[in-house]
Amino acid sequence: MRLSELIKFLEELAPLQYQESYDNSGLLYGNPNRKITKALISLDCTEEVVNEAIKKKCDLIVSHHPLIFGGISSLTGKNYVERTFIKAIQKDIALYAIHTNLDNVKAGVNAKITQKLGMKDCQILTPKKGLLKKLITFCPAEKVGKVRAAIFEAGAGNISDYSECSFNSEGYGTFKGNEGTDPVVGVKGKQNQESEIKIESIFPKHSEGKILEALFHSHPYEEVAYDIIPLDNQHKMIGSGMIGLLHKEMDEKAFLKKIKTTMRCKSIRYTALRKKKVKTVAVCGGSGSFLLADAIRNKADFLITADFKYHQFFDAEGKIVIADIGHYESEQFTKDLLYDLINKKFPKFALRLSEINTNPINYY
Ligand SMILES: [Zn+2]
Repeated sequence: MRLSELIKFLEELAPLQYQESYDNSGLLYGNPNRKITKALISLDCTEEVVNEAIKKKCDLIVSHHPLIFGGISSLTGKNYVERTFIKAIQKDIALYAIHTNLDNVKAGVNAKITQKLGMKDCQILTPKKGLLKKLITFCPAEKVGKVRAAIFEAGAGNISDYSECSFNSEGYGTFKGNEGTDPVVGVKGKQNQESEIKIESIFPKHSEGKILEALFHSHPYEEVAYDIIPLDNQHKMIGSGMIGLLHKEMDEKAFLKKIKTTMRCKSIRYTALRKKKVKTVAVCGGSGSFLLADAIRNKADFLITADFKYHQFFDAEGKIVIADIGHYESEQFTKDLLYDLINKKFPKFALRLSEINTNPINYY
């Protein structure tokens, strides 16, 4: 299939607009129109992983972490990033990264961790703001069903697990077209009054172009009146970390053991146990120390994440147990997640899981 087909699927799953500002997710190398025959899925993209792709005859590497974060002004092979990039170009292996956009969607990296730990009723721990807008438009009653269906199809009307959400109120609109107009109803040069329905519906701001196109296409009027309003609401399906419940509450020691086994940790760095049962757990794949306050506020008994610094451990203050399980350990199942998602959508496309442990950290 074409690379662009796979990209379209991945970016519907985790839109690039949901990546953090420091990130560089998306297609890093390769022509989207090229044909791809086999993809290698990995957590990191290192020289070893490119060698593995060559050996396994893969022409695409889909990794969680992008090989390149910042700009590159020269490519001389002076470090592993450049050497890896040069090798991928020379062997014409396309590189695609799906990083913080996959962290931030509800069915992403953190959902995989909660699934592994056997959690239920999981929600985004810190939903993002500033991602939603509202469309208000006005439409004659007999066409309202068509217009609503079109904007829903384009991505409007989704609130958490509910779809096709809108508010509709009756009223009438006035308009007077000048000599250059060709109104569908009324007469040009005269004020016309028309019974209309006001439709209000929420949408993710990255879908604005698609939704306006659907609106203009489905609406009967020559000139469509509409308002777009930015909202301050949280987007409950998009954000950092996840919080949920264990199926059965556990002793803290037993839970630590469960984490260690499930997440295949050599060691866990954790703060003082609180001598209480564990029921509510917050998780974040990768560096999630910034979520500590939200995890405490949401009454999590444990925060499982990675990359805590010494002084940050003090902030637990007996209100939560921080369990730092390691960055690689927390995200190791991301490649299985990607494998399963791609395989489900394209069952005939050849996929290989990287067998290389890219963790740069050793334990002694
Ligand atoms: Zn990471």
